[in-house]
Amino acid sequence: MIEAASLPSVRGKLTPNAPLAPLVWFKAGGHAQWLFEPKDMADLQDFLRGLDAAVPIMALGLGSNMIVRDGGVPGVVIRLGKTFAKVTADDVTLICGGGASGILVSSIARDAGVAGAEFLRSIPGTVGGFVRMNGGAYGGEVADILIDCEVVLRSGELVTLTVADLGYTYRHSELPEGAVVVSARFKGRPGEPAAIQAEMDRISAAREASQPLRSKTGGSTFKNPDGHKAWQLVDEAGCRGLQIGGAQVSEKHTNFLLNTGDATAAQIEDLGEEVRRRVKDRSGVDLEWEIQRVGLKS
Ligand SMILES: Cc1cc2nc3c(=O)[nH]c(=O)nc-3n(C[C@H](O)[C@H](O)[C@H](O)COP(=O)(O)OP(=O)(O)OC[C@H]3O[C@@H](n4cnc5c(N)ncnc54)[C@H](O)[C@@H]3O)c2cc1C
Repeated sequence: MIEAASLPSVRGKLTPNAPLAPLVWFKAGGHAQWLFEPKDMADLQDFLRGLDAAVPIMALGLGSNMIVRDGGVPGVVIRLGKTFAKVTADDVTLICGGGASGILVSSIARDAGVAGAEFLRSIPGTVGGFVRMNGGAYGGEVADILIDCEVVLRSGELVTLTVADLGYTYRHSELPEGAVVVSARFKGRPGEPAAIQAEMDRISAAREASQPLRSKTGGSTFKNPDGHKAWQLVDEAGCRGLQIGGAQVSEKHTNFLLNTGDATAAQIEDLGEEVRRRVKDRSGVDLEWEIQRVGLKS
């Protein structure tokens, strides 16, 4: 256990043994040993500078791409609050706090007549999560629009990383371990607000029709392997609707896992592993997890 006395003093909120299930989309899983919600940038930097370098830290956005294992997350989980959730437009550049939601970014972009960020409207998550995961949908991804981002490293140092520094591939970045994205600049292009809204509506409607958006889920479970669609491989392996305890493969979109009620994180992860096994047997393809699985098994 990390004793309170060994942690640097903060101006924000530092909570021991904080339940993470309410903070993640799956609504399952264990506790954070400590949850830190910094008041502002200086608070975050001072905390990390003063924190024993051996203590692991993990940033948390909306937990929309994450299984928090039932044994909880050791060390400190950092969650960015309102101070980090502002978005402004400067000509066609969007300056976004790391805690800002995709809905906010795309709405501010629309109002400012900046096109190109419509796809963020439909991805549930924060700018920090998008930058880390190279979030994308409907033909756009973060790698296409990111100019650079500000990151607080595990040491507390604030650095700027360019899109090239992040070494983006599909749903993957080379963001340094323990780094917290506190802001990002996205480049758009001039657009008509009405046309931008129409594109946002088109994307939302398409998503509504194909994904279980109001469920306890973690988004796409597996990355699309080269030349394949993950959902199709899962479907062909007969996994549509497959259940382990309260965890189920979505009937609507087979690359989504659901918590149908009181699933444990272990049941959700075991279901994902069972799907991987069946897909491997059926098609010979190794599915790779897209969902981040964090913390300890209980
Ligand atoms: C219904 C549904 C639909 C989805 N559809 C899509 C889709 O179409 N396309 C897509 O790409 N994704 C999709 N997702 C997955 C998810 O929305 C994205 O991966 C999103 O980028 C995660 O953002 P988040 O802020 O919630 O991150 P979290 O889920 O909280 O975390 C994901 C990872 O990002 C890291 N992280 C979070 N914040 C920060 C930060 N500030 N600094 C550093 N690292 C950070 C975490 O440590 C973790 O490794 C979907 C999810 C759901 C539930």
